[in-house]
Amino acid sequence: MNRFNNGQPYHGVQTVGGKLKGSTDTDYFYFFCPTCGEDNIMQILDFVVRDDGPVKYAPELRGRAKRDFTLAFQLLCPACGLEDFVKISNTGWQKGKLRNSLPLLLASNSK
Ligand SMILES: [Zn+2]
Repeated sequence: MNRFNNGQPYHGVQTVGGKLKGSTDTDYFYFFCPTCGEDNIMQILDFVVRDDGPVKYAPELRGRAKRDFTLAFQLLCPACGLEDFVKISNTGWQKGKLRNSLPLLLASNSK
């Protein structure tokens, strides 16, 4: 049985953390290698559905959300060999500018 990252932890390292950018061409999203430059595309080697369930994260502020989910991707840059992980989730940041945003749970708990 194939297990994502052979069952090992898959948190992104500092190279990707806060520096990973990307873009769409049509409706497909591509990640760019943070060490090679902004338009060097990384391969997506594998993915796993880390969380998938009913809305539990700040439901009072996310009335239209259908579910809570987190997808984790294993990325590889074929040019420099950088390999890392990134997650896409619909929990956490919900709006605003990234540098100025506060997580919804922190905002809702402070009321
Ligand atoms: Zn690279």
